Amino acid sequence: MTTQKGTENITKDVKNDDILTSTQKIIHEALEKLGYSEEVYELLKEPMRTLIVKIPVRMDDGKVKVFTGYRVQHNDSVGPTKGGIRFHPNVTEREIQALAIWMSLKCGIVNVPYGGGKGAIICDPRTMSIRELEALSRGYVRAVSQIVGPTKDIPAPDVFTNSQIMAWMMDEYSKIDQFNSPGFITGKPLVLGGSHGRESATAKGVTICIREAAKKRGIDLKGARVVVQGFGNAGGYLSKFMHDAGAKVIGISDAYGALYDPDGLDIDYLLDRRDSFGTVTNLFNNTITNKELLELDCDILVPAAIGNQITKENAHNIKADIIVEAANGPTTAEATAILTELGKLIVPDVLASAGGVTVSYFEWVQNNQGYYWSEEEVAEKLEDIMVRSFENIYNTAKTRKIDMRLAAYMAGVRNMAEACRFRGWV
Ligand code: GLU
Repeated sequence: MTTQKGTENITKDVKNDDILTSTQKIIHEALEKLGYSEEVYELLKEPMRTLIVKIPVRMDDGKVKVFTGYRVQHNDSVGPTKGGIRFHPNVTEREIQALAIWMSLKCGIVNVPYGGGKGAIICDPRTMSIRELEALSRGYVRAVSQIVGPTKDIPAPDVFTNSQIMAWMMDEYSKIDQFNSPGFITGKPLVLGGSHGRESATAKGVTICIREAAKKRGIDLKGARVVVQGFGNAGGYLSKFMHDAGAKVIGISDAYGALYDPDGLDIDYLLDRRDSFGTVTNLFNNTITNKELLELDCDILVPAAIGNQITKENAHNIKADIIVEAANGPTTAEATAILTELGKLIVPDVLASAGGVTVSYFEWVQNNQGYYWSEEEVAEKLEDIMVRSFENIYNTAKTRKIDMRLAAYMAGVRNMAEACRFRGWV
């Protein structure tokens, strides 16, 4: 359960209202570099649909609380839209719109036949009971049911949502649809049509990007000093994978503070002690702040928590040589420019975190086929897609002398712009 202090910290840290504007700027630049007209930009700069819903839930104290939810669909020229649902007290409409656009870019980068979507409910799941969470999850599905579905828009987990929430949502949709509809949502438990490897997929994709980036910079992963911000699904699995690869994870954090040990932290112990929201630092006295964590002397820094963490205020103090973005939008445009100027390699979020949606695609394919793949099959296919996407973007950045973020946006919008043109929309 959360404390009020933690919620306040998050509120203060999230200034997401400008992320849509900075995303639009890079999309504009990417389309220009690819030779597309202003009309294509006009179509792609904003989502095609934003649905805002009210969800009444009878709380455990007997009173009804009305929650606000969103489902945003960016562009469905390539295929149905796809993207997670986050439960967070500080989400804004513009933030969800930017996140939906990023989903389009991720799908374009890994070349899966989806456009981007994103959903959210303004709530703090850390202060809610299981019964309240179930009622809220089911209420959300009823409220957005007209615009979602296995061939329209396929949700998935995101910040503070998990396989149990996906299961309730799938069950609610199946009742409305009067069919068993596993392909309605991804990130489900295995027994309900989930895929092997989905839970750890984002971290697996990030791990592959770290390995490839380290090779390019001549850094040996064995003994490399890694700092991971965030200890939830992505940060937790990632710390474990890095530790298993022989790297030294010297810093980790959650929403309340950070832990540092220059000799490497005991990741298995910390994973064992964290709660279901990724909180573990509350068990320790000698913590450092998230700000200090980001500025630690290390080789690889992985922001795997929330947006707007590396800004023009702290970019000059970042010591890591490689920054791999596992979170959505952790580095601002100004900070990207500063870090690039300093010669650092940034592997952008739309590439680094695309492993999640890639395995979600595998899950959806398996649901549609009714035929399920082995863990090895999933891992092999993910490895192949991530390595190819990384190489493609790294090489574009190098030959065009641009940063990897712009190169990733170019790879991300290309299919969508082409599909819009072939359909005769622009
Ligand atoms: N929420 C994840 C993301 O931001 C996964 C989305 C999905 O699997 O559809 O990439």
